[in-house]
Amino acid sequence: MKFQSSRTAVTPQRPDPNRCQFSTADDRQCRMSRWEGHVSFCLFHARVAASEAHKMAQLLAVEEVGQELVSLSGEFKTASDVNHFLGKLLLLIAQDRIPHRNAVAMAYICQLLLCTLDSVRHEITNEGPGFSAWKAMVAKALSSRLPQQS
Ligand SMILES: [Zn+2]
Repeated sequence: MKFQSSRTAVTPQRPDPNRCQFSTADDRQCRMSRWEGHVSFCLFHARVAASEAHKMAQLLAVEEVGQELVSLSGEFKTASDVNHFLGKLLLLIAQDRIPHRNAVAMAYICQLLLCTLDSVRHEITNEGPGFSAWKAMVAKALSSRLPQQS
């Protein structure tokens, strides 16, 4: 018996355009027909791919939101810092870019921070480095706002 393996070994197999092109890690290809709504996957694998793309977009959005919510001075020891943060949070809520539950928790934490600001100021001015340190902290928060307004 003679094998004609030379022809099959040289000729690369073209992927069937009507078959799902999804391959597993061990190189097994999906046997389903390609879904007409996707360029290369069956309906199941097209949904999986869309779901993974959606999850990736959500992760990127979370990182972006985190960068937008940075306070003016990088701390939350002045009313200007908390006010700036709350303004950014309001925009994110209005744009529906942050989960409602997280926004409520952040707003509540800001309320607590605002309630403790007088105590923080008292500690800094009476028991810490003094009133000039407090004024420097407020000035730092306000000066970082100036470049954004131009
Ligand atoms: Zn498939």
